Amino acid sequence: MIRLFCVVIISIGALLGADSTLIQPAGCDVTSIGQTGNKLPVLVKDAIKLVQKLPAAMVGDPGQLTAENVVVIGNMNKFFACWAKNAPEVSDPKWQEDHRNTVFFTDRKYGIVFLNGERDAVRLGAQNYSNLEMRQRNMHLPYQFAAYLSHELGHLHGDKGESGPLSIQVVVLQYFQKQGKLPPAIQEEINYTADLAERYRKAEFAGATLVAAKPE
Ligand SMILES: [Zn+2]
Repeated sequence: MIRLFCVVIISIGALLGADSTLIQPAGCDVTSIGQTGNKLPVLVKDAIKLVQKLPAAMVGDPGQLTAENVVVIGNMNKFFACWAKNAPEVSDPKWQEDHRNTVFFTDRKYGIVFLNGERDAVRLGAQNYSNLEMRQRNMHLPYQFAAYLSHELGHLHGDKGESGPLSIQVVVLQYFQKQGKLPPAIQEEINYTADLAERYRKAEFAGATLVAAKPE
C-alpha cells in the first residue's frame, strides 16, 4: 500500500476564498503543465467522484472539487516557470524546494488543487490503477486519494490552517474505513494524521507556524 503521509501542507495564494470554476489564469495555462479534466489519470477522476458524493456535513460543499480544478503536474520545473507568471512567490527557490517535497497543494486564489506528479505517491498510484486488473488489486487507492483531496477541498473553502483540513482527512479516512474500503494498515495512517492535526491545532492556537511537509 502506498503511504501518503506527506499530504499537502503548503497552500499558495492566501488571498481569496474558494471558487469552483477554473479560472484560466492569464499568465499560465494549466493544460500546458499537466493533466486536468478528462485527461486526469483514472485514479484521480475516481477519487474526485468519491469526494463529490461525501456528505456536506463532512467536507463542506463537495461540488467545489471538480476534474476541471484539479491538475496533476507532469514536470515541476515546467510548473514553476509557468505558474510564477500567476503567483510571483513561485519563483522563490525555497518555495520551489518545499513544493518539490509536497504531494498535494492548493492555490486558493485560482481555486486549483495541484498533485505533484513527480512524487511516487502520485506517479505510482496512477500507474497501479491504470488498467482493470490493477484496479481490482488496488481498489482502496481512490478512497485514500479522496481523503487527501478532501483535505485540499478544505483549503479551497478558504481554510488557511492545516488542523482543519487534516481533521477532515481523518474523518474521511475513517468514513471509508467503516465501509470496509481501506486495508487494515490504514489505521496507522489515521493515527498519524490525527496526531498531526492535533499538533497543528495547538501550534495554530499559539499563533505558531508548524512546517511539516513530510516526504512519503
Ligand atoms: Zn493542507
